[in-house]
Amino acid sequence: MNVEIIFLGSGGGRWATITQKKPTGGFRIHTDELKLHVDPGPGAIVRLNQLKISPWKTNSLFISHCHPDHYNDGEIIVEAITNGMTRKRGIFIGSLTVVEGFGEYEYVISKYHQSKLELVKALYPNDELKLYDTTIKATKTKHGDPFGIGFRLKTKYGDIGYTSDTEFIPSLIKDFDGVRVLIANIVRKKNEKIRGHLCSNDVIDLINSMENKPELLIMNHMGVKMTNPLKEAKYIEENTNIKVVPAKLGLRIELLKNNILIR
Ligand SMILES: [Zn+2]
Repeated sequence: MNVEIIFLGSGGGRWATITQKKPTGGFRIHTDELKLHVDPGPGAIVRLNQLKISPWKTNSLFISHCHPDHYNDGEIIVEAITNGMTRKRGIFIGSLTVVEGFGEYEYVISKYHQSKLELVKALYPNDELKLYDTTIKATKTKHGDPFGIGFRLKTKYGDIGYTSDTEFIPSLIKDFDGVRVLIANIVRKKNEKIRGHLCSNDVIDLINSMENKPELLIMNHMGVKMTNPLKEAKYIEENTNIKVVPAKLGLRIELLKNNILIR
């Protein structure tokens, strides 16, 4: 099969999450072998069922950091992975905080749930791990959770990057240089800078600093102040000369060898 990315929402931040004005289910990456759920915020399990995507086939869970708009439905995803906790199966990876806890950040998948998984691993920036027929490399962030990570996933049809929640830091340039698809958590529009997060202008600077720009940028984790995602996508497009699409519930991206389908 082709490599597929499916979005179970587009929202992030407390206001989008509480009001569900933008859904917060995270996204999926499917390859021949990998069935990965990334950052299952509130509603992830509802959105999976709504879109008729079988939760049972999930075999991996990635949680980038210890905020509930990223981890809330994580234990339910583990229950799906493990066939309702009846089989030891699957992989859970995430930041130190979500896996083991640190200081005021408590681990977010119970030890009981963790015990039913085949592999549980906390990743630090630059750590690499084989994940079925892909390889995942953790990337650095600067956000409220000091251990938060994004990733770069190597697939047979190119790399997929995910910034997770972060403000602009120079390491993002090399971490995501040359990815085919970049999923960026862009909370606010234009130059509305906000600590710990990216706004559109940050992402424009990021992309224009790369030697090899992505073929496609997906705007993800948008806050309530991102009132017109399509208009904002056009703005980023005009300033980077790459294709930009805002995430939405049910958005499917298919990576083929020579092109990318957006459905
Ligand atoms: Zn966060």
